[in-house]
Amino acid sequence: MTRKMLVAGNWKMNGLRAHLADIAAIGDAAKAHPGVEVGLYVPATLITAAAERADGIFVGAQDCHAKSTGAHTGCLGAAMLGEAGATSVIVGHSERRTDQHESDADIAAKALAARAEDLSVVLCVGESLETRDSGSAVSFVLDQLLASLPEGAAADWLSIAYEPIWAIGTGRIPTMEQIAEMHGAIRGALAARLGAETAAAMRILYGGSVNAGNAADIFTLEDVDGGLVGGASLKAETFGPIITAA
Ligand code: PEP
Repeated sequence: MTRKMLVAGNWKMNGLRAHLADIAAIGDAAKAHPGVEVGLYVPATLITAAAERADGIFVGAQDCHAKSTGAHTGCLGAAMLGEAGATSVIVGHSERRTDQHESDADIAAKALAARAEDLSVVLCVGESLETRDSGSAVSFVLDQLLASLPEGAAADWLSIAYEPIWAIGTGRIPTMEQIAEMHGAIRGALAARLGAETAAAMRILYGGSVNAGNAADIFTLEDVDGGLVGGASLKAETFGPIITAA
């Protein structure tokens, strides 16, 4: 089964119109590697401007509400994000699970809401350092994955991102063996829930301190189908080499 590599940048709460030139430069870097799918999950305020300039990359949102409309001050529904120019959305990022107290059920509902508006979805899972140190990282992540997985999950619209919380923004990454073990376990759990064919086709990204120095090694692992990249995705100079590594 060949899965097209996906390298996606998560700009988090970074980016003003002054940074649109970086999006164009990242598009140029992506166009040199048509075999790799490249996307940028920008702040909602930049989606339209980014989508207008995006050439060679897709533009996504970092969250969406589980409801399509209603009395939810400050929130954005999937149709709004799609109209703004997003074609994809991240759900379940650990920062939102922590800061906004999002539950697995919330995340599954958000993924379904995005799917209903034809947005693709990257569903994030990952363990804390405490869980890693306790030796239960794999069982924790599989439980989180299965509880967050939306009904009807399919490889043509859903990807999984394994992001150990302790690796995000810290410069620390798991060993290659730990990444391989977790990605293999995730694929196994997807096969048990969704069937072997769907699991074999679904992309599983690694995220957490991916940079130009470690990307090539991580991307050679059999069950790693790309990366979700935070800090290093803000500039073409740091994101470009990660795209090249894929
Ligand atoms: C992220 O938050 O999705 C992420 C992977 O961040 P960083 O690459 O900065 O560790």
